[in-house]
Amino acid sequence: MSTRLEQPTAVQTEVTPSIWDYSPAPESVKVAIEPRYDLFIGGKFVAPKSKKYFASINPANEQTLCELAEAGEKDVDAAVQAARTAQPKWAALKPAERAKFMFRIARRIQERARELAVLETMDGGKPIAESRDIDIPLAAQHFFYHAGWCDKLAYAFTGSGGKGIKASGHQGIKGSKTRNSELGTFPLPVGVCGQIIPWNFPLLMAAWKLAPALACGNTCVLKPAETTSLTALRLAEIFQEIDLPPGVVNIITGAGATGQALVNHDDVDKIAFTGSTEVGKRIAQACAPTDKKLTLELGGKSPNIIFEDASIDQAIEGIIQGIYFNQGHVCCAGSRLFVQESILDEVIEKLTHRMKNLRVGDPLDKNTDVGAINSKAQLATIHKYLEAGSREGAALHETNGSALPSKGYWCRPCFFTGVQPSHMVAREEIFGPVLAVMSFRTPEEAITRANNTPYGLAAGVWSDKGSKIFAIARQLKAGVVWCNTYNKFDAASPFGGFKESGFGREGGLQGLRAYVNI
Ligand code: NAD
Repeated sequence: MSTRLEQPTAVQTEVTPSIWDYSPAPESVKVAIEPRYDLFIGGKFVAPKSKKYFASINPANEQTLCELAEAGEKDVDAAVQAARTAQPKWAALKPAERAKFMFRIARRIQERARELAVLETMDGGKPIAESRDIDIPLAAQHFFYHAGWCDKLAYAFTGSGGKGIKASGHQGIKGSKTRNSELGTFPLPVGVCGQIIPWNFPLLMAAWKLAPALACGNTCVLKPAETTSLTALRLAEIFQEIDLPPGVVNIITGAGATGQALVNHDDVDKIAFTGSTEVGKRIAQACAPTDKKLTLELGGKSPNIIFEDASIDQAIEGIIQGIYFNQGHVCCAGSRLFVQESILDEVIEKLTHRMKNLRVGDPLDKNTDVGAINSKAQLATIHKYLEAGSREGAALHETNGSALPSKGYWCRPCFFTGVQPSHMVAREEIFGPVLAVMSFRTPEEAITRANNTPYGLAAGVWSDKGSKIFAIARQLKAGVVWCNTYNKFDAASPFGGFKESGFGREGGLQGLRAYVNI
């Protein structure tokens, strides 16, 4: 099996000499990227019927990495048909056999981890240390974890099985045989799942979507984001390597129109969407008059609350991790910082000091803390918010440390003080390394202000009083509340939002619920 590490990478970000006098240490791994990628339908790479291709850009140096096929309506239809054809057989496989495929996918992701990490970084601009240590290992973990569920669904949803559906093999939506087992009944799969993902954690989001769906006996059509499709296409190669039955997963590249065609396709049983609240609302409207199942993982403006009794140095790390991880391109980023008034000055001083030590630059350098902004369009959005923050009267604190590379899309980590709750930077999701710092006096005020948002994805609470943490956490309207930590993820732990952050959960037993018919 090839690991596609043959050709030298063209990526060498120019870094102007600066006060950061490190020796150059870009990852020396070589990753092959084909000039052009087709659609993955029915187990094969096929040219798009649309005959259209678009460029995929490395945001760290603005070079074109390759061309990607743009799936039109006919291509979407072909992918859905392939998934429909494959579904009954996949669902009728013995669950333990299905699990074997998923274990193989997980192991192959591990074996090709270095290649996938470099590719993820070249394609999306995130620091190699994050792709290598977080994105790729977690993607493998999701397949491992869900492989384990395949033959235990009867325990997950006790008494939920379809008529005569038994544990050692279960029926698809359209006609396949059932088998008996001592375990009891299995819930039925939903059928064909259309899955649309964003650009901030490309391979990881693909794993979040595919792994639970496959474990429950569904087949999938996955549409990655247009700026970050390369690792999903590498995953398609892994599916070929492990002989995943054709059509079980189909991967179609393209932009919003491709996603829309998938949402509108009549033969899709479920849509799982991760992306912006704006697009999520449009998808909800499109699905409302149909019997499609829907889950939405949308945006956030999550509060990170620091009480005066917290361990301040530990909290500073949590603030940094909460907002500057992945350039702030994180749905659950702790982008609203609430600091108890008595420690505000100390926190700002320490935060300023810590922020100065963040290294911005070549994402392929393992010393880099903050990589490139994912696209020119996203950089323009961040600039819009930086201007709005200053215009509305907040004070911008930014590091002037290292010189930024001359090409690519960059934004230094920064924060605003003097922020009012009405300011745009306090209300709207920026999706960049920009933090809004505000203060509070009492726990009640912290809770009220933290909940004063249309979003409800995540929150952080920092205090050395366990009882206080639990009392506060219970009153926060957020899908995930991290206590004395931030941005911790695990395949066994459900993730998802309230309010305009969406509905449905991904991960854990709860995440399986969206992929079964009960
Ligand atoms: P986006 O909504 O612009 O795009 C997301 C995906 O939807 C892309 O694949 C895009 O091509 C597709 N798309 C665009 N228009 C569509 C349409 N009309 N119909 C169907 N599909 C369409 O979001 P983005 O800019 O790629 O990602 C950033 C957003 O994603 C942020 O708001 C972030 O908070 C959110 N996000 C949420 C989670 C979560 O778990 N809640 C995780 C990651 C990102």
